[in-house]
Parts: sequence; C-alpha cells; structure tokens
Amino acid sequence: MDGPSGSGKSSASKGVARALGLRYLDTGAMYRAMTWWMLEHGVPVEDAAAVAARAAEPVLESGTDPDRPTIAVDGTDVSEPIRTRTVTNAVSAVSAVPEVRARLVELQRAAIGAGGIVVEGRDIGTVVAPDAPVKVYLTASEEARAARRARDLAADPGASVAVTQAEQARRDRLDSSRKASPLAKAADAHEIDSTELSLAEVIEAVVRLTKN
Ligand code: C5P
Repeated sequence: MDGPSGSGKSSASKGVARALGLRYLDTGAMYRAMTWWMLEHGVPVEDAAAVAARAAEPVLESGTDPDRPTIAVDGTDVSEPIRTRTVTNAVSAVSAVPEVRARLVELQRAAIGAGGIVVEGRDIGTVVAPDAPVKVYLTASEEARAARRARDLAADPGASVAVTQAEQARRDRLDSSRKASPLAKAADAHEIDSTELSLAEVIEAVVRLTKN
C-alpha cells in the first residue's frame, strides 16, 4: 500500500493485516529509524555523501505484528522517538540517498519473504515488491489529510496546524520529486480515494480486492 502522508495508509494497512491474519511492515518507520540514528550520531542529514558513508551501520529490526508493530535500532526500541518533528522534518533528505534506499529495500524484501504481509510505504508497488498480488495506492483530498494531521497534533502541542501543514507539504514535495524511487502509483495499483470513506470502508475495499 503506497500513498502520500496523511492518506490513512497506516491505519488501513494495519486493519487489513488484522482482518486477513497477515503480518504488517511499516517501511516509513525504517526510514525514520535510519534518520533517528543519523541524528543521534551527529551525521549532517542534508549531506548525502555523509549519510551514504554511514548507511550500512545501524542494525534495524522490525516487528511485524499489526497489533504491536515495533522498530528497533542497535537493540533500542525507537517506536516513539522516530515520530518527533525533528525526525519527521529530516527523513526526506535521508530517504533520498540511494545507499539508504538500497540497504532498506534489501531488509524490506527479507521481511516480506514468501509473502503473507501488508507493506506500507511510497515505493512498494513500484520497486520493493513489483510482483505483489494486490497493490493499493491510497489518496485523500488535501482537506481530509489536513484534518487528520490536525488530530495528530493533539500529541504535539508545539506545532500549529498551519506549520504542520507546511512541513507536510514540503515532505510530500521532496518525496515525490527525488531521483531515487519517488512516491509513485504502480501502473497495476488500485487507487482508493479515502476522502469520503470511513476507515472500516477503506479496509473493506482493500480486503475485497484480495478476494478477487
Ligand atoms: O510513512 P511515513 O510518513 O512514516 O514515512 C516517513 C518518510 O519515509 C517519508 O516521508 C519518505 O521520505 C520515507 N519513505 C520512503 N519510502 C518508503 C516509505 C517511507 O522514502 N517506502
């Protein structure tokens, strides 16, 4: 399942995995964990060569239970620190570095293994799993995405709606325009617009696709 930020990918992917008894992989969490590690180690994240030089170092482990997804770096659970604004605003620079992508795509393919998993990200249908049996590209109107962001803000009172919206727009612009595997809809992906749909309806629509 691919799509821009705020399209509802995470809730929908987890819900589909639960409904079908599948595993779940949040590839965005892996890019965030890589970014968290770079910041922790004082690597200047806007310097692609510096990031590339250290991309092989962090040891990442992803837990794939949709009821309790986890992400650890060098043995430390970073599920919470990877959601801070500092990481969120640095992640697009780190994820644009080809060495980072090559390393994480390899880990993602290893986690996917023989399948039986719902994977969410930006390049899953196009690059990571081009042979996936069901591909979904989830979208939502700018207003619906802004409303979701406003709800998320309750957890981060430091950021105003306007600031968060601007940061989100910048991240989407960077993710869509980078050279290495930009956010893209695979030619054979089913596009679902979640603007007018409840979470349950999105899950139902995806589950239906898997039965076809
Ligand atoms: O999904 P989430 O917003 O947590 O993703 C964080 C960032 O990770 C995205 O903004 C993007 O830069 C990067 N990402 C990516 N490819 C993926 C998943 C995430 O480049 N498959």
